[in-house]
This record gives sequence, C-alpha cells and structure tokens, in this order.
Amino acid sequence: MATAYLLVGSNLGNRTQHLQQAQQFLRQAIGNILQGSSVYETAAWGVAAQPAYLNQVLVVETALPPFELLEKTQEIEKQLGRIRSFRWAARTIDIDILFYDQLIISTQELTIPHSRILERKFVLQPLTEIAPDMLHPVWQRSIKNLLDSCEDNSVVEIFGKYFATDNKI
Ligand code: ATP
Ligand code: CA
Ligand code: CA
Repeated sequence: MATAYLLVGSNLGNRTQHLQQAQQFLRQAIGNILQGSSVYETAAWGVAAQPAYLNQVLVVETALPPFELLEKTQEIEKQLGRIRSFRWAARTIDIDILFYDQLIISTQELTIPHSRILERKFVLQPLTEIAPDMLHPVWQRSIKNLLDSCEDNSVVEIFGKYFATDNKI
C-alpha cells in the first residue's frame, strides 16, 4: 500500500458539493481516505477573472501504482463534469497528485511530486495543516519550511471543515 497526497479543487458550480462527491468517488476507486485538511478558499491562480477556488488536501491509502492513480483521478474528474478547455480554465473539479510516498517521477504525463507545489500557497497551507514535518522528497525540506519561504502572497482562508475520515469518527 502507498500513501498519496492529493489536492482537490473546484471553482465552478456547487463547489463544496463537488469536493464531497470527489471524496466519495476517491473512496470507491482509489482507497481509504486517511486524513483531510480543512477546505480553503483562494482567489483563482494563474488566470485572473475567474471564480475563487475551494481546495482541500486528502491523504489516500492506495494499492494503485502511480500511473493508474492518475488515470483514475482523471476518470473521476470526467465523471464530475470537468470539461477541458484551456489551461487553468475554471473547472468543477481538479485532482492533482502532490506526493506518492517518497517517490520521484518526472515524465510529461506525470510528475511527482507535483511540479508547482513550492510556488502555491493554496497547496502548502492545507498541507501544513496535516503534514508540517513531512519532507519534500526532492528538496528535502519540510512542508512548513517550504510554506515559510513561499513567495505567493495570495490570501488562503479557511472556508470550513467538510471532512470525516474513513478510519476515525
Ligand atoms: P497544474 O498542473 O498547474 O495544477 P492543471 O491542474 O489545471 O494545472 P490539468 O489540465 O489538470 O492541469 O492537467 C494537465 C496534465 O498534467 C494532465 O493531463 C496530466 O497528465 C499532467 N500531470 C503531470 N503531473 C501530474 C500530477 N502530479 N497530478 C496530476 N496531473 C499531472
Ligand atoms: Ca491543478
Ligand atoms: Ca490537474
């Protein structure tokens, strides 16, 4: 079994419902959700004039190897109505693989750790909530340390808690 850290995000339609549906689909197709951060709200990143995002980090226990995990997460995005138009376009759901154990993969189709973690406060802030001391396998620096030196000055605010883990009450 591997432990994968996923970032789920939504900035279209009923955002909280999309995050909750994503959790259900992930449980069915990928494995137990061991842990989840609060849900954070952040202004859209990369492209201006888009609705704000809700983002949440989920820790998932999975038997799927990395490329199958990518395939499944992309299937879930489709099932939840994601339409791919242009890069960073508004979407009902986005599921990014942040980490997969301490694995390092660098291909065009799949890069693990996700290549833009360091420059995104909306990733580092929820990650810090649940795994401040985890080391980034490439940089060998803790998540907390990466957040402290992150130059992204966008405001990332707690929106709410929408999480019940599979293993805890
Ligand atoms: P960003 O990657 O900057 O967050 P995005 O999430 O909007 O942007 P997508 O359109 O969802 O980008 O994905 C583009 C491609 O990125 C996917 O088709 C996938 O093959 C590739 N990809 C590479 N590494 C990863 C990863 N760690 N997790 C998810 N997709 C990845
Ligand atoms: Ca993304
Ligand atoms: Ca993505």
